[in-house]
Amino acid sequence: MFDYSDISEAKAKEIHDHVAEKPERKIKLPKTLAVINQSGCTGCEACIQFCPVDCIEVVPGPRFVDMGKLVEVDLNRCIGCKLCSKYCPWDTITMIPSAESFDKANEWTLRSVVKLDVTDGPLWKT
Ligand code: SF4
Ligand code: SF4
Repeated sequence: MFDYSDISEAKAKEIHDHVAEKPERKIKLPKTLAVINQSGCTGCEACIQFCPVDCIEVVPGPRFVDMGKLVEVDLNRCIGCKLCSKYCPWDTITMIPSAESFDKANEWTLRSVVKLDVTDGPLWKT
C-alpha cells in the first residue's frame, strides 16, 4: 500500500495536475432503455437475476404494499444491454429509444402507479 502521508508537496501537485489534465469522461446514453409494462409483470423477479448493473428494483404492489410486488427499472442506471427483455418470461419488458423511454415509463410503470389512489378504480388503461 502506498503511503500518501509521505508524499511531497511537489509530487502532490504533479499528481493533481496530471488528473486535472485528463479529459472529462463521456457517458454515452444507450440507444434504448428497458421499460417494464407493469400491467404484464408478475413480479417473478427473473429480470433482476440478469441485470448486470443491478438497476431493477422490487417495488410495492399497486394494491397492497407487501403483496403482488412488481419491479421497476431505474432508467438512469440502465445500460441498455437488453438482457432483461430477452429473459422476461412474460415478455413485458420493451427496449424503447432512450429519448422516449422516460415518457413511456411514466405511462407503463410504477412511476404512475404509486401516484394513484388505488381505491379510485382501475390501475391500468385498457
Ligand atoms: S421478469 Fe418480467 S414478469 Fe418477471 S419481474 Fe421482471 S418484468 Fe416482471
Ligand atoms: S437493459 Fe440491461 S441494464 Fe437495463 S434494466 Fe435490462 S438488464 Fe438491466
